[in-house]
This record gives sequence, structure tokens and C-alpha cells, in this order.
Amino acid sequence: MCGIVGYVGPKIATPLLLEGLKRLEYRGYDSAGVAIMNGAGVETVKEAGKIAKLELLLDATPVTGTTGIAHTRWATHGPPNQVNAHPHMSQDGSVAVVHNGIIENATVLKQMLQGRGYVFRSDTDTEVLAHLIEECFDGNLEDAVLEALLQVEGTYGIAVISSVDTHKIVAARKGSPLLLGLGENEYFIASDVSAILAHTRQVVYLEDGEMAVLDAGGYRVIDMDAVEITKNVAHIDWDLAQIERGGFSHFMLKEIFEQPQTVEQTMRGRLLDDEGTSKLGGLNLSDEELLSFTNIVITACGTSWHSALIGEHMLEELARIPVEVEYASEFRYRNPVVDEKTLCIVISQSGETADTLAAMREAKRRGARTLGIVNSVGSTIARESDGGIYIHAGPEIGVASTKAFTSQVVALLLFTLKLGRLRGMSQERGQEIIAGMRALPQHIQTILDRAQEIEDIAEEYKRASNFLYLGRGYNFPVALEGALKLKEISYIHAEGYPAAEMKHGPIALIDEMMPVVFIATHDAVFEKITSNVHEVKARKGRVIAVTSRDEDALEGLLDYEFRVPETSDLLMPILASVPLQLLAYYIAVKRGANVDQPRNLAKSVTVE
Ligand code: GLU
Repeated sequence: MCGIVGYVGPKIATPLLLEGLKRLEYRGYDSAGVAIMNGAGVETVKEAGKIAKLELLLDATPVTGTTGIAHTRWATHGPPNQVNAHPHMSQDGSVAVVHNGIIENATVLKQMLQGRGYVFRSDTDTEVLAHLIEECFDGNLEDAVLEALLQVEGTYGIAVISSVDTHKIVAARKGSPLLLGLGENEYFIASDVSAILAHTRQVVYLEDGEMAVLDAGGYRVIDMDAVEITKNVAHIDWDLAQIERGGFSHFMLKEIFEQPQTVEQTMRGRLLDDEGTSKLGGLNLSDEELLSFTNIVITACGTSWHSALIGEHMLEELARIPVEVEYASEFRYRNPVVDEKTLCIVISQSGETADTLAAMREAKRRGARTLGIVNSVGSTIARESDGGIYIHAGPEIGVASTKAFTSQVVALLLFTLKLGRLRGMSQERGQEIIAGMRALPQHIQTILDRAQEIEDIAEEYKRASNFLYLGRGYNFPVALEGALKLKEISYIHAEGYPAAEMKHGPIALIDEMMPVVFIATHDAVFEKITSNVHEVKARKGRVIAVTSRDEDALEGLLDYEFRVPETSDLLMPILASVPLQLLAYYIAVKRGANVDQPRNLAKSVTVE
């Protein structure tokens, strides 16, 4: 998920690799390292933390050579420390690997390799690749990598060097981007073009299932049957700032558009279609233990608190267990009824949110078991919770959370499937939900493809000074989240309410100046929400609705409508929140706000 750079050519590789890594720093990472062919063998230098620390190490003990690979890691398996940093070496030290992505069958491969005498030094899934390539090595590095990858399930962008088959980089891609940079008698490999742009603008993008072999004399691209492929060379015109954001104007927009992939990543390898349940390796709870809980408390802040509300709804409906959602900041100062029969789920993108961490510690003190739903591997919540589910959404740079939110909801649903099936939910229901989940990435994509429609709505309402967001059932938290997004980045005052609550107060605010965003998708409470739309319209409010089909009941009532694909009620929050993220984004941009770094906000709230 993070950064790869490689170099082969006539120059000393280390400074080029470090420069490339620094160009990737904007993506976020937790550790960094290089592996260089130094003449005698492959030498690695790696360090947890910032690239500057790695640079200091390399200044103290320089490694020189003209072939090398480098990595910034964003941990998925094992905490961010020096041992887990990439590159990873094979047992005999002949092969070095950098890897972005997740090896899903790492546990099985590890057991197999351990059986053959390989000793593992790190907690990563990546180390499996290094040993496996050594195991397959028979004098030719690309053959070994090919053979090894045939045994691997999961996603990868990798770059590999060897001290036996020297002065060559072998790279391969499946689900994690990689490209080649073509210079004068020198070649680069990178996960992101910004890493190499200072040296060349001629690039070859690798596709999934392709492998590249680079040396100072040239490059070849082959498929997994070793058949050579002719590739187009692209010329990059973008400047660095554009590239860092993947061509998008802001990180937030890039992250909104990543959601088909990030939602997929959260589910990857975790759905058991036949049994209608999920497989969650990190829970650290047996089925018996899961069944022993009498209630669940979910605690979180901000956007994570909204995903918690959706989780509450899912868990109560499908697992039939009482769930309470608490603001972490309140939970810690109350006298909550929590004991060893309580499962406490804590949700935090960064895993460092101060209030959430304190609430988790409080729940632990009271005897509860704790599960973290976090994005940052090895973060404090990840370390201190009894178990958890990583959402694997990749680094989120935009301060306003988008992709982490949808992935949190997916993670909660994975947990719901697991607990629901244990507590009597039928296999058919589980299978039905899984089928819906599998369609989510495609559905999100169809929404994103129509972002222009939302931009037009934003143009119409960009001058509003207040917004109301209304939804019911599963879509009530979506209303809250839609309002929060707008507040955060456009500084427009916005409130989210359960639609029926409107008549108990907020209705007083409605006039022709007040845009009201309804989440009016076709679900169990659709008829109820149409009455609320009437109430707003009767007071001349302006209605923007997210709908999922043609509805006679809404005929003539909507000023603007955005259609999302139909899905089940419990999956709708994932789809319905995407247009609201886009609405907030476009309004903020049109008002000239600093979308990625909104005023007064921090990405990770580590103070009380
Ligand atoms: N799964 C690998 C690890 O945890 C790679 C992480 C990354 O993509 O940076 O080390």
C-alpha cells in the first residue's frame, strides 16, 4: 500500500533511492529501508520512522552499489518496527524483496516454509515471499519469482534483487501499482511516478499479472507464463503536485475515488461465501468466547462514531445482541455499565484518538474484552486492544475521513456476519449479504462515474449558509456523516437528524433558503421518509434527495435527485455516503476552502 523505488544503471543507487522515497513521503508511511547490491552481496539498511532516520543510518554506514530497491512501509501485518520494515531478506541472504499489498495465504506458506527449515525473523506477510523465492531459485531470478508467485494469493507490487543473479531487478504486479521508468542506460521501478520523475518522464505501466525484468541494458515485460509482452511507453506531462494526488485536485477527492478498491481491500480474503459468514484472523476470540458476551458497547469519535451507529443497527438486527454506542469522550467520564460479559468495540482510523484510547482503557479496567477497528497497523489502539479488525484502507491523508468511514462500516459488517451466524442468523441470509457486499465496489464505481451530477448540485447550493441532512433507519447515521463532512470542509453550518425528529424542532428552520438533503433510498422506512419530504416541501424548503429508484411518491417534490444503485438496507449507508462526500467536497472547493487541511482540524486527534 505504500512506496517502492528501484534503480539499476551506472550510477550509485543509494542517493537516487532515498530521493525517490522522499518523493513518496506524502503518502504516509511508518518505516523505510533499502537493499543494495554492493558487489559482494545484498546489503539492507532499514529503520522504523521517518526516512530522515534511514538517511542518518546510511550516512553513518554508506552502502554503495548500482542496483538497489527501496520501500516505505505502511504496515498491514506486524507493527511498524525495524525488523518488520522492508526490504526482507531470504534465509541465506541472497534475495531481497520489497512488497506493497497483502499476501493472503501467508500463514499457510509460512508453515510450509518452516517445515523446510526456514526461520522467520519478522511478523510480516512479505517475508514469506523472500524465502519462497529462495526456495524456487535455480540460478535465474525471474524464473524463481514467477514460480513463487504462482503459489501466492493476495495483492502485491514487488521488486526483488538477488546476489546470485546480479544487476537485475525483477518486479511484478497484482492489485498494487507499479511502473517502470526508462532512462539513458538506466531503469527505475516505482509504485508511483513521482518517485522517478526527476530522472525520466518515459514510463511503462505494469498491469496485473505482469512481470518486468530490468538491467542496465534494458527491460522486458512478461506475463505469468513467461511470454513476452510489448508495452506502450507513456510520456508523463503532469507536475509533481498533480502526481502525488494521482491527478486529483485534492487528496480528499483521490480518497473518495479510491473507495471501490478500499472497500474491496477491507473484505479481501475475509468472506466465506458458502457458510455465509466471515473469517477474521485478528479477533483473538474463540466462538465460545464470542457467544459468552451479553452486550456490546461501541465507542468512537466523529466519523467513526457514525460508523459505530451503523454497526449498532446491523448487530442488533442480525446478531440480536444489545448494542450501545457511546461517544468515547463521554464514556470515559461516566460510570458505564460494563463488565466481563461486555464486548467493547473501539473504532479509530489512526488508532491513536486520545478519547477513544482512554475509553478503551476504561472498558478494559472494568473487565470488558476490547476489539479495535483501526486503519493504522501497530497503532496504540491496535496494540492495546485484545483483538481487532484492520480495515486496510491504506493511508488517509485528507483530514476529512472518507474511505476510512466506508471501510469501517464494511469491517463492522464483517464482524456482524461472524457474530450473527454464531447467534442464529441463517446461512442464506449470510450468503445474501455477502453477495451484496461483493457488488459494492462496482456500485461505488457507478456513483463515482457520475460525480459531475453532484458537482452541478454543488454549484446550485454553494452559497447556502445552512444545510439539513435527514435520513431514517440505516441512513440516519449517513445523514449525520453527510452533515459532518460539509461542516468540516466547507464551514457551512449543517445538521443531521433522524428525519422524523425534524418536526420536534428543526422544522422551525425550514424556509426557501434552507437546502435539505434527504437520504430517501428504497428501504423499509421509505414510505415514512416521503412524509418528511412533504413536510419540508410544504414549508418551501429545497430538497436534494439521494434515491435508489423511480418513486411515484416523490414525484414533483425534489429539486435535485441523485440516484444510487439499489442494494439491501444495511449496505445502503456505504453507497449513500459517497454522493454526500462528493457534495461536501465540491461545495468546499467552490467556496475556496482548503479541503485537505480544513481550519482548526487535525487528522488524528491525540489530545483530549
Ligand atoms: N503487507 C506488508 C507488510 O505489512 C506490506 C505493507 C505495505 O504495503 O507497505 O509489511
